[in-house]
Amino acid sequence: MRVLSGMQPSGDPHIGNYFGSIKPNIELMGEEENIYIVVDLHALTSVRDANELREYRMNLVKDLLACGFDPEKGILFFQSDVPEHAELLWILSCITPMGLLERAVSYKDKLAQGLEPNHGLFAYPVLQAADILLYDSDLIPVGKDQKQHIEMTRDIAQKFNNAYGDGVLKEPDVQIREDVAVVPGTDGRKMSKSYGNTIPLFADDKKTEKIIMGIVTDSKGVEEPKDPENCNVFKIHSLFLDDDGKKELEDKYRAGGLGYGDAKKMLAEEFFNYFGDMRKKRLEISDESAKEVVKNGAAKARKIAEKTMDRVRKSVGLR
Ligand code: ADP
Repeated sequence: MRVLSGMQPSGDPHIGNYFGSIKPNIELMGEEENIYIVVDLHALTSVRDANELREYRMNLVKDLLACGFDPEKGILFFQSDVPEHAELLWILSCITPMGLLERAVSYKDKLAQGLEPNHGLFAYPVLQAADILLYDSDLIPVGKDQKQHIEMTRDIAQKFNNAYGDGVLKEPDVQIREDVAVVPGTDGRKMSKSYGNTIPLFADDKKTEKIIMGIVTDSKGVEEPKDPENCNVFKIHSLFLDDDGKKELEDKYRAGGLGYGDAKKMLAEEFFNYFGDMRKKRLEISDESAKEVVKNGAAKARKIAEKTMDRVRKSVGLR
């Protein structure tokens, strides 16, 4: 079985990315064939500074390695090192109905957040479909925020197969992590690199503490009972806890006597405990070793992508 994940190098990866994408992928490491794509072509929809993009790309590779991605067991590479992604994007674009893309919630969200409405942003789900279909992926573990996009991939694959022949493209299964809600950012909106509301995995200690202490809450005083279900600090903290731990923390919020300042300090402690080893490992990963990983990864990825494109080109009449 082939498990595929992708992440944009458009900023520092954050705990939403970790719980929604990195952790579920790495949990299957060794049992399944894992692919992780640093989707740098997607990042061009929002990053306009070449040096910044170069830095984000390398950093993300190192971050994924620090989180436990094992290049001996899986394939990690830059999307732009495999030109078949752009080729399949075009072929799929030609059978993707405009109406399908016009229904995409994330496009509307991004415009509402002030991003420029360019064609790349609009066509994003088609490039994502190409990323997935190129590798005959079986399983795409994603957070709920990506559910609609992945369903669009199935629609696009079906449309392609109806037009050009059954089974040319493999329609993947989607594994939505129902146990991971969309992780809220420090301001309560979805945590996202594009919204500047993230808790990064690998920022320095001081900055991380400052971000956690800045999580937006209501203005209830220390002694007042608090509603965990509507509290960003609780929602983020609960990601680190099992059911019993969650229940215990919930009771503390409801009982009153726990101020938001102390609740945030508890969260910061939990964060440093949980990510401590990964943060240490991150400091030891060199540029050279990361470059070697993605070079080897791209060579392996291209072998798979070329096979798919061979089928696709023949079926549409380009061979
Ligand atoms: P971002 O919105 O921060 O740019 P990406 O679009 O690069 O994130 O998403 C990479 C992966 O991380 C996707 O699989 C997505 O489901 C997951 N993800 C991103 N943000 C969140 C979040 N707030 N909660 C849960 N999962 C998330």
